[in-house]
Amino acid sequence: MTFHCKNYDINADACKKLKGECLPGRRGCVLEGRVAISEELAEKIRLLEEKLRNRG
Ligand code: SF4
Repeated sequence: MTFHCKNYDINADACKKLKGECLPGRRGCVLEGRVAISEELAEKIRLLEEKLRNRG
């Protein structure tokens, strides 16, 4: 992690706000729309959202 986010729980390696994986820039993240994200991260976010959608 190259930044500090107040929502990041270092012990759980997870986002406290979103109660799940910390992927900076993901939907609901404080950084959403504020950061330029790499293609790799964009792909991770896409996969996560797909997973969340399929969970119903
Ligand atoms: S997902 Fe966003 S809001 Fe959550 S801990 Fe990571 S950077 Fe912070």
